Amino acid sequence: MDIELYSSPCNDPGDAFKTAAPQPAPTPAPAAARRVWPAMVRGALGKCPNCGEGRIFRAYLKVVESCAHCGQELHHHRADDAPPYFTIFISGHVIIPLMILVERYWAPAIWIHMAMWLPLTLFTCMALLPPIKGALVGLQWALRMHGFAGDDDVVPGTTSMDSIAP
Ligand SMILES: [Zn+2]
Repeated sequence: MDIELYSSPCNDPGDAFKTAAPQPAPTPAPAAARRVWPAMVRGALGKCPNCGEGRIFRAYLKVVESCAHCGQELHHHRADDAPPYFTIFISGHVIIPLMILVERYWAPAIWIHMAMWLPLTLFTCMALLPPIKGALVGLQWALRMHGFAGDDDVVPGTTSMDSIAP
C-alpha cells in the first residue's frame, strides 16, 4: 500500500529554485478617473464632490473631515488663498464697472457711493466664497491632488513632519 500523507516542498532540491525565482512586482490597479466638472459643480453647491449627497461644509467655510453620506475624506484639501483670490477677482470685475457706470451717468455724492458699494461688495464676497471654495475642493478631489489620491500628503524629499512645520 503506497499512501503519501505529506509531501514536503523541500524533497526536491529543484523546488527551492522554483520558489525563489523573482516574481514580477504586482502592478497597482489604475485609479478610476474622476470627472472634474461634476465634482466642481457639486462642491460649488456645497455637496460632497464624490457622492453629491453629503455636505462639504460644517460651518461657513469649514470643510468637513469626511462626507457623512459616503465617507469620502475631505480634509486633504488645500484651498488656502485660492478662494479669496477668485472671489476678489470676480467681485472686482462686477462691482468696479458698475461703480464707473453709476458715476458716469448719475454722479451721486460720495456718501451714496459708500452706502451702495460697500454693502454690495461685502455681500457679494460673502456669497461667493463658499461656492468658490467648494468648487476648488471638488477640483482638488477630482485631480487627486494632495492626499485625495489615497497617499499621505507629503512633499517629495521631506518627511510628514517637515510638511507641517512652519
Ligand atoms: Zn460623499
